[in-house]
Amino acid sequence: MEIRKVGIVGAGQMGNGIAHVIAAAGYDVLFNDISQDALDKAILIIDGNMERQVSKGKMDASAKADALSRIQTTLSLPELGQADLIIESATERETVKQAIFEDLLPHLEPHTILTSNTSSISITRLASRTDRPEKFMGFHFMNPVPIMQLVELIRGIATDQPTYDACFSVVERLGKTAASSEDFPAFIVNRILMPMINEAVYTLYEGVGSVTSIDTSMKLGTNHPMGPLELADFIGLDTCLAIMNVLHDGLADTKYRPCPLLTKYVEAGWLGRKTGRGFYDYREEVPVPTR
Ligand code: NAD
Repeated sequence: MEIRKVGIVGAGQMGNGIAHVIAAAGYDVLFNDISQDALDKAILIIDGNMERQVSKGKMDASAKADALSRIQTTLSLPELGQADLIIESATERETVKQAIFEDLLPHLEPHTILTSNTSSISITRLASRTDRPEKFMGFHFMNPVPIMQLVELIRGIATDQPTYDACFSVVERLGKTAASSEDFPAFIVNRILMPMINEAVYTLYEGVGSVTSIDTSMKLGTNHPMGPLELADFIGLDTCLAIMNVLHDGLADTKYRPCPLLTKYVEAGWLGRKTGRGFYDYREEVPVPTR
């Protein structure tokens, strides 16, 4: 099945990256959010990020103009019914995602494939509440989307092969690499990454090391480009905690117990870069460790 038109729901930090790479690969994009402000901001961010690619010689100016002209924003979810593929990337809350799919269903073409960029919610459960569980799967991009090479493709229990193949071809056309994951809590990347971040927070909590010594150890000792606490701030501490809770609840193993210090940061509203403070304080020019 050929995909021409892609509907993207949610114009947050992931949605703008997804719209960027999908439009740059030549697809028409219908880009939806409940907030006009979010859509306007997303277009400005895409424009700025594409401009950076032009100045680095990674994209030419006419390709940028073409890509931007292929993105049509809309506050009306039913308009996305014309799309061949929907990528839902709204807020990580199951009730929000479920309502989006329910509202879309009456407007969809019979062939439309539904996907979600969720980091942790069960694909099988989201799919089971639609009229097409065999045409439903996880399409999980990494942050920041224009830079990161990987897309995790997650099959729900009912996902059929033509649906998987169609999504795989989209990933190839984006010039990215797909890794296939079965639908278990947090899939592959976050199943491995989040316990490491959580362990880094325990290491801090138990006083084994300071923020600086933990991040320096992992950067210089294991060649990671970012330390685990810096990375947690980049992802968002609320997101990290939510994923640890999904692992803990879904796998019922105490090894996934979220560190109480991570919970405390989230309770304080210190969610990382997006709120200006997390394991580092970003309010000055140079980030300062908060412990
Ligand atoms: P975000 O908070 O930056 O953006 C969410 C957007 O969804 C907002 O613009 C909001 O207005 C919009 N929205 C909320 N309800 C909506 C509705 N009913 N219809 C349309 N739009 C709606 O969040 P984000 O970081 O972009 O995350 C989006 C999804 O991507 C989540 O499922 C998240 O788990 C996943 N994800 C996030 C990351 C990450 O590093 N942040 C990485 C991979 C996947």
